[in-house]
Amino acid sequence: MELENKTIIVTGASSGIGAAAARLFSREGANVVLGARRSAELAAVTDEIRRGGANAVFLAGDVKDASYAEALVDLATREFGGLDGAFNNAGMVGDMIAAPEMPLANWSEVISVNLTSAFLAAKAQIPALKLRGSGSMVFTSSFVGLSNGGLPGMAAYAASKAELNGLVQSLAADHAAEDIRINAVLPGGTITPMGGESDPSVLAFVSGLHPMKRMAEPMEIAQAALFLLSDRSSFVTGSPLFADGGMSVRLT
Ligand code: NAP
Repeated sequence: MELENKTIIVTGASSGIGAAAARLFSREGANVVLGARRSAELAAVTDEIRRGGANAVFLAGDVKDASYAEALVDLATREFGGLDGAFNNAGMVGDMIAAPEMPLANWSEVISVNLTSAFLAAKAQIPALKLRGSGSMVFTSSFVGLSNGGLPGMAAYAASKAELNGLVQSLAADHAAEDIRINAVLPGGTITPMGGESDPSVLAFVSGLHPMKRMAEPMEIAQAALFLLSDRSSFVTGSPLFADGGMSVRLT
């Protein structure tokens, strides 16, 4: 198993990529600490994981809050004796409107949820990983905001994810010598609530943007995060791992 006896925080675990990741990591031997705002959804995923024989706990909260980032680390330490890694995956797109029409509050919300939360996660998690003597953090970024990733109506989202890529590289440089590896997974369109899973016309449109002519299943992105959290990626840090069906090298 790839994560045997490791304790991993997963945010955005109430649906989509995060829920798939929590399930996958638990099957790979991890104790998982699930985070998101919706308690009922978190409880359902946590119960399912426990029924499968693995250790899982959840705490509902908002990733914009510094106290929530700290509380997830405290929970991991209290329940499982420490922290080995985190998949900081919670995120939002926000209203898809052009900048002149976008209220400042909408911009600020997207930046807080997608970018400031990553800073808060790093502040809370890195001291705990240092206590272990090593660790791995993975952030969910996006191809949006990079070359070939300019999509209409996504100014705040694109800015937040492009800045997140920069934050990941800087964090990686700061903590490489401490054997704390910090990487990003960059999904292409993924079949989740955010990815438009309930709207066949959105799924068809987004599928067509990808050289592979399909979207990802959430588990395919979870597998990329698993690689970055596991010892198989022991010399990988500061990397943007594209799991995007070729979107970043778009051919058509
Ligand atoms: P999703 O199913 O909508 O999941 C988003 C998750 O983030 C949910 O668990 C949601 O939980 C949580 N979340 C949102 N705002 C939060 C907040 N303020 N505090 C705590 N949790 C919050 O979408 P997804 O596709 O799995 O998205 C996961 C990540 O993948 C995001 O970072 C997204 O930007 C990225 N991504 C997705 C795609 C795609 O096509 N789907 C492509 C590239 C990147 P609650 O609502 O319960 O809080």
